[in-house]
Amino acid sequence: MADRYQRLTARGPGAVLARKLGLPRPEPLVRHRPGRPVVTGPVMLGGAPGGRLLGPLRTVLDGVGARVAEGEQRPEQPAALVFDATGVTDSAGLRALHAFFQPRVRSLAPCGRLVVLGTPPERAQSTAAAVAQRALEGFVRSAGKELRRGATAHLLLVAPGAEGALESPVRFALSARSAYVSGQVLRVEPADGAAPADWARPLADRVALVTGASRGIGAVVAETLARDGARVVCLDVPQQADALRAVAARCGGEALELDVTADDAPRTLADHLRRAHGGVDVVVHNAGITRDKTLGRMDAARWDAVLAVNLTAVERITHELTTGARPVLRDGGRVVCTSSISGIAGNAGQTNYAASKAGLIGLVQALAPGLADRGVTVNAIAPGFIETRMTAAVPLLIREAGRRMNSLAQGGRPVDVAEAVAFLASPGSSGISGQVLRVCGQALLGA
Ligand code: NAD
Repeated sequence: MADRYQRLTARGPGAVLARKLGLPRPEPLVRHRPGRPVVTGPVMLGGAPGGRLLGPLRTVLDGVGARVAEGEQRPEQPAALVFDATGVTDSAGLRALHAFFQPRVRSLAPCGRLVVLGTPPERAQSTAAAVAQRALEGFVRSAGKELRRGATAHLLLVAPGAEGALESPVRFALSARSAYVSGQVLRVEPADGAAPADWARPLADRVALVTGASRGIGAVVAETLARDGARVVCLDVPQQADALRAVAARCGGEALELDVTADDAPRTLADHLRRAHGGVDVVVHNAGITRDKTLGRMDAARWDAVLAVNLTAVERITHELTTGARPVLRDGGRVVCTSSISGIAGNAGQTNYAASKAGLIGLVQALAPGLADRGVTVNAIAPGFIETRMTAAVPLLIREAGRRMNSLAQGGRPVDVAEAVAFLASPGSSGISGQVLRVCGQALLGA
């Protein structure tokens, strides 16, 4: 459902007025539906001379059945413009970006994609190449802010040797699954993990745990992981038992009533997962609370409650599930923490919440290297303004500002966060770890 402003400015006098006043007219975003192809229109592919990713990109695009145009071809409304910039070795070479995108960017289809691929600057062969590769970030972030009509921009920094891990992030960036992700940088490292046998059900035969699953984002994450084939253990506090059981029934999963802050919660959870499922493959830490007050007015109870649920419980549970001689989280496992753009940019009234959410970023960065040899990845997603009960409770004016202050001029939906979680949870995403993926429509906050 579009929000009221979006409906008002979509057509008729509202549209005319918005155009005259230069107000944003948010495009209804195309979201993924089962059976929908990765791309529905032609993909224009280009690259700087000497790049190393055109070959792997052609293979991925062929595999998803894309109609690929190259060279002087000019498809009328390309669904995506994809450029391999790994061959850019100095700042003069950046001109290739202008040459490829400038004549084409205005013909990009609504909800189209602008995708640039580069090399992580620290892996570049020379100082000049590192400079040029770092420049790609400014280019993509600015392009994301200029694109109109629901189109988005993505930068994938692919380390040498990680070409085989390219398919999952390219599919995500090109597809409607990344509808509310724009202006973000994802690093892809070499990894052993095998691609899913069936991209429509990448989590078949896997067990996923989702905390805070009775409503909001967590409920949709549970449903989305179930759609992708996982058997889902839906966890929430006992007070939410009825709603939790309804979600578990909808996704053919299991309801587990547990307060994640209870002293024995990590052990209870580990015992349950081992006994009932022999272990777990995907852990999504989604349970979270806010207790907003400016610092001078914040009592210790508000501080403690937020830190306990959002951060300490996540640390304790992750520790319990990933350590020991035979860890409950199986090899090739996935941990996804739910951070927030507040944890990146800070937010007035949220010193407690932002501290907890920034702490989660510290957690994924600290844990990722140590778990890499078991094929386990640990990442965070950082939602921006997502339309849920949590944001419905925000005062009207702040809510309206939060909703519009991003490149897509609209709030995201729980499913946008869920698709990002599903992408990171996929066996194909083994090259992505220790990172934070923002799902925020390129929010100005923390940009
Ligand atoms: P929500 O309040 O609708 O859902 C949170 C769920 O967590 C609830 O079902 C709640 O019962 C559960 N929960 C709370 N404390 C718990 C505990 N001690 N043990 C077990 N479960 C517990 O919130 P939401 O908007 O769906 O947010 C989900 C996550 O996304 C949170 O971590 C939130 O901080 C984060 N987030 C949300 C937004 C947004 O715009 N909605 C933005 C950024 C981050």
